[in-house]
Amino acid sequence: METAIITRPDCIFCSIASGSAPCAELYADDEILAFLDIAPVNRGHALVIPRAHYANIFEMPPELGTKLIRVQQQVGQAVMDATKANGLNIYMNNFSAAGQVVFHAHWHLIPRFTDDNLRLWPQHAYANLDEMLQLAADIRQQLG
Ligand code: 5GP
Ligand code: ZN
Repeated sequence: METAIITRPDCIFCSIASGSAPCAELYADDEILAFLDIAPVNRGHALVIPRAHYANIFEMPPELGTKLIRVQQQVGQAVMDATKANGLNIYMNNFSAAGQVVFHAHWHLIPRFTDDNLRLWPQHAYANLDEMLQLAADIRQQLG
């Protein structure tokens, strides 16, 4: 028996996935869709989404991960070839504090060029090694 895909009428990516809103499609199958981001960081910036509505990675069934990675590899390589990029960033925002604006899980595929002068996040040092080791212990405890 086929399971119905969960969609949200107020979600722009659900509308794109169902075909009721347009997109510059790159790849589509029963479960996954890839299309160009409407406001690219670099030309060729693509989005890969599950067709079903999951607000973020924490809501997604992990079993979808294998297919999503395969599509990211295929579409990512095609984007790099078509744009003659030298590299590719793949990332995801989860929750508004992390910059998520569309609350339908999606991965950004951003082609990169040696001299594109894009700097990602600034990085910082821990105050000392103890602080870093304590935080690692706290996270391991949360993992259970
Ligand atoms: P977020 O910040 O949620 O990770 O990223 C959402 C992305 O979706 C943004 O990069 C934005 O440009 C893109 N986006 C938002 N609305 C649309 C749309 O209607 N069509 C397309 N193709 N991209 C969209
Ligand atoms: Zn949705």
